[in-house]
Amino acid sequence: MTAALTYPPRTLGPEQEAMRAEVRAFLQKDYADGGFGRGQEAMARYDVEFSRRWGQAGFIGITWPKKYGGRGLTFLDRYVVTEEALAAGAPVGAHWVADRQSGPLLLKYGTEEQRQRFLPRIVAGEAFFCIGMSEPDSGSDLASVRMSATRTDGGWLLNGTKLWTSLAHICHYMIALVRTSPVNPENRHEGMSQMIVDLNAPGVEVRPVYNLAGEHHFNQEVFTDYFLPDENVVGEIGAGWEQVMSELAYERSGPERILSTFQTLVELVRQVGDNPSEVEARAIGRLTAHLMTLRGMSVSVAGMLADGKMPVTEAALVKDLGTNYCKDVPETARLICPPEDGAGGNSRYEKMLKTATLLAPSLTIQGGTREILRGMIARGLGLR
Ligand SMILES: Cc1cc2nc3c(=O)[nH]c(=O)nc-3n(C[C@H](O)[C@H](O)[C@H](O)COP(=O)(O)OP(=O)(O)OC[C@H]3O[C@@H](n4cnc5c(N)ncnc54)[C@H](O)[C@@H]3O)c2cc1C
Repeated sequence: MTAALTYPPRTLGPEQEAMRAEVRAFLQKDYADGGFGRGQEAMARYDVEFSRRWGQAGFIGITWPKKYGGRGLTFLDRYVVTEEALAAGAPVGAHWVADRQSGPLLLKYGTEEQRQRFLPRIVAGEAFFCIGMSEPDSGSDLASVRMSATRTDGGWLLNGTKLWTSLAHICHYMIALVRTSPVNPENRHEGMSQMIVDLNAPGVEVRPVYNLAGEHHFNQEVFTDYFLPDENVVGEIGAGWEQVMSELAYERSGPERILSTFQTLVELVRQVGDNPSEVEARAIGRLTAHLMTLRGMSVSVAGMLADGKMPVTEAALVKDLGTNYCKDVPETARLICPPEDGAGGNSRYEKMLKTATLLAPSLTIQGGTREILRGMIARGLGLR
């Protein structure tokens, strides 16, 4: 039997509009003071000092309890904060993962000691986290991770390699998914655990990996007899798979999945000017209508999170449609308003188009590939 996916409409209320005004005022002032430069794929761009100011202004961990430095607000408030930051093209990469998923993971599965040790520093923009899931031979098939953690006095010895880790070179910690017992062929999801790795401790080497644009975004981390103390184990030993899966609704549905190339759309509208041709007006109208529909779905998922639900399938569909939309933006822009020198010149529009074109292929891979998401959606719909 098939089940329908529903996205109950959610309206952002006066509290969220007040929050929007607060965030906009901060961003306008910070930008005017020369605090940051605007760009695309804001969650991949980082500025450690910007993250500190963002944290000190109270915009990190806003859904977390006040006793850890949060503001005890809802996921709808968080939606507005992240949407404004991304729409402004602010460099939010340094604190992004800690705010979006490491902090919530510690709130759900961490010990009280871990929460007190890490959450106030995350909120202050002083502790940055990265995601240590993928390995050289484990991406889509995450259950095949091989990095091992073996028992030793007072903790665990980690050996193996993580790969494609976004911004590990500027992060203080990684939440690593490791094998704490050998693969059980009857149930490959057993025997995995999550651990907080201090990336500045001995036994781990962080090596750069350059992306298509020639930028240092990813890393490879090689672990050799890295000692991890017991107090850095997150949740239960052996329950890593369930814990990792619960992170995915946070990871897949946010405004970052629909706004990665938004600056190209903004510059396209500027480039076309006040008197667009019919073709230009139609194309921009279509892109804008798609964006507003996706935004409605994404806000709806934030509402479900605010209600304490775990809308994993709904989030997967937002990511699939949203990242395909983000690819459409530069493709449409190139067709209706080609750059003058073909390869991308120096105007702001051309620069945005060039970076959007280079980053677009990665959007449907990171956080779960298109094919994997479609398999999940089919399962959620009862079709497989
Ligand atoms: C920009 C970016 C940032 C990233 N950041 C991080 C990070 O911070 N931390 C981290 O851990 N990882 C990160 N990743 C890695 C990302 O999660 C993996 O690249 C992704 O899960 C795919 O794994 P893979 O590269 O091993 O490809 P594979 O899993 O080998 O897939 C190759 C191709 O086969 C297809 N395929 C695989 N299995 C199936 C199947 N069962 N059915 C149909 N098709 C299938 C895939 O869709 C894909 O097209 C990042 C990736 C990118 C691009």
